[in-house]
Amino acid sequence: MTLSLAMQNNVFNDLVNQEHVVEILKGAVLASRTDIESQEMSHAWIFTGPPGSGRSLAAVAFAQALICPNNGCGICNDCMSARTHGHPDVEMMRTEGLSIKVEGIRELLSRVAWAPSKGIWRVVVIEDADRLTESAANALLKAIEEPGNRTVWLLCAPTLHDVLPTIRSRCRHLQLRSPSSQAVANILISRDHIAPRMADFAARVSQGHVGRAKHIATNEQARSNRKKIMQLPLQLGTLAAAFQAAQTLVELATIEADEASQERDVYEIEKLQEAYGKGATGRGMATGAGKAVKELENEQKSRNSRIVRDSIDGALLDIATFFRDVMMVQTGKVESLINIDMDEHIAQYAENSPPHSIVNKINAVMEARVNLASNAAPLLTCEALMCRLAKQ
Ligand SMILES: [Zn+2]
Repeated sequence: MTLSLAMQNNVFNDLVNQEHVVEILKGAVLASRTDIESQEMSHAWIFTGPPGSGRSLAAVAFAQALICPNNGCGICNDCMSARTHGHPDVEMMRTEGLSIKVEGIRELLSRVAWAPSKGIWRVVVIEDADRLTESAANALLKAIEEPGNRTVWLLCAPTLHDVLPTIRSRCRHLQLRSPSSQAVANILISRDHIAPRMADFAARVSQGHVGRAKHIATNEQARSNRKKIMQLPLQLGTLAAAFQAAQTLVELATIEADEASQERDVYEIEKLQEAYGKGATGRGMATGAGKAVKELENEQKSRNSRIVRDSIDGALLDIATFFRDVMMVQTGKVESLINIDMDEHIAQYAENSPPHSIVNKINAVMEARVNLASNAAPLLTCEALMCRLAKQ
């Protein structure tokens, strides 16, 4: 099959600024059609890149191309159902809890044990391979190593170091890069039909994160929350104010996270109760319902605490851009400001602060992010941070 992929409408067109990766993936798709043991085609891949660079987008596009009879046309039934998680040969694993446990991997392995039902390949996408526990990773490793297998494993993680060496040594590695603000703005305009001015603003403040840019461009509440968060560095006159700022930051992040999860939580519980017979006339729920609901609630709780953490992390990144801009002004690079809407505040802050204190503040924000990622208590972490930011 010597079809040129470049001629077609295809699933790789959505990947912004990743030409180097797309070329390799297209080569692999073509190779997979002719010789399943070829050099270009591997059974295990790992996609790394900063948040928002499109790791999982790339993995899903590759999955579509492998199972699509037209190498990933994006419009056939196979392509569509793979993307909406409804394809029998494409399995997506993502966790919203803090880790992927060995039970989850075992269950996955039992589901993908058979040969592919339609095409040549069965594809498994694991979106948060960095959250595999050690025993889960070992269970997965055995499956990846199994010879003659028609399953392709696509793992996603922020960096290679986030994945156990035993796993990453079996995977072919693809590194995605953060798209430029211009590239993000262009995709918001052309794909999501967002007005150029808004697209430009959203792309700049979300620093190459396509998903966040879209969220900011299309959600007024998100824009207003962001504005409040960006004011925090300006409100740190006293220690009391610093504690208040920490409180505000955690509250805003929690509100945003709650909005994201509430509706879904209720829906999931209802679905589960229905599965146990709730609402059927003449009988109550089957035995075990209470326990299952309890388990789901616990899962939801752990998912929600992760969403809150992610949301705080996003707010901290935003705050870091404020100090970054101050530093830009201090070094005379006014034209490269991220937060153009705050240029006067930034200029004033730059004038009143010694440059070394700005470097310390950026470091303080980054340390707080690292602490949060290793499970430090959110409010405490933010309070310590704000106190450091309040110092001259
Ligand atoms: Zn297709």
